[in-house]
Amino acid sequence: MTSKLAPLFFDLDHTLWDFETNSRLALRRGVKDLALLSHGLASEQEWIVHYEAANDWCWAQFRAGEMTKSTLRAKRFAMAMERCGMPENESLASQLGEHYLDHSPYQTALIPGTLDMLECLASRGHAMWILTNGFEEVQHIKVENSGLAGFFRGVYTSDALSVKKPNPEAYRRAASLAKVEMDAGVIMIGDSLESDVLGAQAVGWRGVHFAPGLDAHPESWKTIEVLEQLKDLPLHV
Ligand SMILES: [Mg+2]
Repeated sequence: MTSKLAPLFFDLDHTLWDFETNSRLALRRGVKDLALLSHGLASEQEWIVHYEAANDWCWAQFRAGEMTKSTLRAKRFAMAMERCGMPENESLASQLGEHYLDHSPYQTALIPGTLDMLECLASRGHAMWILTNGFEEVQHIKVENSGLAGFFRGVYTSDALSVKKPNPEAYRRAASLAKVEMDAGVIMIGDSLESDVLGAQAVGWRGVHFAPGLDAHPESWKTIEVLEQLKDLPLHV
């Protein structure tokens, strides 16, 4: 008896690539490279807390259509500077914005268990791809630098596909590029209930919600707290 292995699509940010840790590594590097302690910053910790709050606020504005992406890039740093009690300095804010974009994709922290889980699934013979909402160049840098590239047959970004998850077209275009039939028993794994689970299930795939510390959503095919749990799921067609 043989049961066919399911084709697997993985999300990248917050699922395999540890976005939060990597963002903080890049922020700490920025504190040093741009000598923020000599510009009135009290501590790295304070910088991270205020930047993350400012970043969340700016992204909410962006999603509401009230801020452009190019404004967001420097604005979140200008806001963090203000909240940290640093003097206004537009040029420093824009340098920080560029420094962050230049450095964050090159950080290499992975979610615990990523490599062990991928090695296990690869050794069983699973065909695997990445399907991520993000910029083409940035996402490929992350995959190449963090040692993920060898596990995947392809890395598809919303940028290159011209459509974002959970738009049904995103999954269809990725499957078409991967030469996988939509009804081939595909499984998508990711941390976003909307983009990686419900959107995928709406096109007939199964969704594994990677949701550390959260309750299982009743509509998710499966929910896991740690990546190792993937090895025990019935990842068959
Ligand atoms: Mg994600």
